[in-house]
Amino acid sequence: MAKLLIVEDEADIRELISFNLEMSGYEVEKARDGEEGLALARSGEFDLIILDLMLPGMDGIKVCTQLRKDSATAHTPIIMLTAKSEDEDVVSGLETGADDYITKPFSPRILIARVKAALRRTQSETKTDDSNIISIHDIVIDTARHEIHLAGEPLNLSATEFAILRFLAKNPGWVFSRNQIIDSVKGEDYPVTARSVDVQVLGIRKKLGDKGNIIETVRGIGYRMKGE
Ligand code: CA
Repeated sequence: MAKLLIVEDEADIRELISFNLEMSGYEVEKARDGEEGLALARSGEFDLIILDLMLPGMDGIKVCTQLRKDSATAHTPIIMLTAKSEDEDVVSGLETGADDYITKPFSPRILIARVKAALRRTQSETKTDDSNIISIHDIVIDTARHEIHLAGEPLNLSATEFAILRFLAKNPGWVFSRNQIIDSVKGEDYPVTARSVDVQVLGIRKKLGDKGNIIETVRGIGYRMKGE
């Protein structure tokens, strides 16, 4: 269950929001001003923060700036609440790192839809992050950064070698024909032929040294990454 923090000084609005979010199944904590909100948020336990712009003392923009600086909250989605007359502030609010904003007065239905959307975005981002890292046989492949480490040491592979190793490592235990391997890396503009797959695999094995045997030749079919 997602846990949300509401930072809002107006009691009516604070209660309205928290009531509706709780009815939607969220766990909610409330803060009455920026300082209290910041102190609560720093625990890092919230999945999303609803932050009013106009707060006594430390305003929403200052709170937002602080939240973005703190590693515990740097990536927590923030939805800013603003009044209609505050349009310029909206822009600066988003510039300080709010993910979305809602103009008062708003219906609870709109708020909940925005909360859901913001949570969905961060959840799918997290998933993408995870799948960027493939870890197998002491090899760690960071597909986003195009980096590969063997037993903690960086390994220098050509772009094609990298693409082939990544493809095999994503599907350990599965055998792929040379043509399937070509198809998997083709989209990335590499001129690869069936024969050159053999050459590439030879190159990868060499660079993997002792670990070269994790890529197995399956006679008459192709190659596979040994399962763990
Ligand atoms: Ca306010």
